[in-house]
Amino acid sequence: MAAMGEFDLIRRYFQRPPGAGVEVGVGDDCAVLVPTPGARWLVSSDMLVEGRHFLSTVDPARLGHKALAVNLSDLAACGATPRGFTLALALPRVDEAWLAGFARGLLQLADASGCALIGGDTTQGPLNICITVFGEAPPGQALLRGGARPGDEIWVSGRLGDARLALEVFRGTTSLDGNGFEAVRAAMELPTPRLALGQALRGIATAAIDVSDGLLGDLGHILAASRVGARLDVDALPRSAVLAAQPAALQHTCVLTGGDDYELVFTAPAGARLPNVGVAMTRIGVIETEAGLRVFDASGAEVSHGLRSFDHFAS
Ligand code: ADP
Ligand code: MG
Repeated sequence: MAAMGEFDLIRRYFQRPPGAGVEVGVGDDCAVLVPTPGARWLVSSDMLVEGRHFLSTVDPARLGHKALAVNLSDLAACGATPRGFTLALALPRVDEAWLAGFARGLLQLADASGCALIGGDTTQGPLNICITVFGEAPPGQALLRGGARPGDEIWVSGRLGDARLALEVFRGTTSLDGNGFEAVRAAMELPTPRLALGQALRGIATAAIDVSDGLLGDLGHILAASRVGARLDVDALPRSAVLAAQPAALQHTCVLTGGDDYELVFTAPAGARLPNVGVAMTRIGVIETEAGLRVFDASGAEVSHGLRSFDHFAS
């Protein structure tokens, strides 16, 4: 890049002292990592494209946080311990105020998660952020999608639907008062990857996934991979007071198909002792032998929203 120059930019915003387990970080042709003996590597990439995954007006520090958070959420869903990540960045221009904010949000979460920035690529182009995360788990202990068994209970961490409610406000289909909007906007822009929970669920959860595309679709991936079905209680789905004050149809859309929640959905044998890592966990349904996903409300009536045609839901 011209202006301040590619290498100055990298040095100023993205070069960090190598930390534990990183022999060589940013600055050479490759990073050199020290694996934990016997551990398995878990690797995942997520790309964020302006206009598709975020609004051009988003605060750059929040964008930096979210770009890493959505990647760490995949490690969390697999029960992995984060080790490092690479950052491939296309920038339309060198905007130092933007870069400083972006790097601050990104590296704050990186430090808090023990996930070192170990390299990347920087080029000029439409704003695009691609991160690849590297994590570790003991052999045979990664949480995968295919292990759910009939009789297992289905659990979800935290709350669902706020990010979608914020999106609906941005789209202008609904409105909230200032405090309510700030709360759901923070859910959308500052998701918390459930890393401690994922690691604590090793050897306990039979299957797990993070809710990125909406509960119905993501739970559908577990059902398909595990060749089972499920029964879900829509009224049990945890939601904020702000969302709970909305009309029932909007609540259902947000909690069932919302997406961008980055909570963990997992299955565990009935009566399993669940870890306490300070995150609320709610039992939302049960795995059944019969294929398909059946949604009921608290009165026992089957709920049909036409929501099951959702793209990612195919089982
Ligand atoms: P190469 O030409 O060998 O691909 P680059 O000139 O692209 O290397 O990058 C120089 C160094 O800076 C490398 O260590 C690379 O990993 C790192 N790097 C480049 N862009 C970024 C970025 N956005 N974040 C972190 N590290 C980066
Ligand atoms: Mg390069």
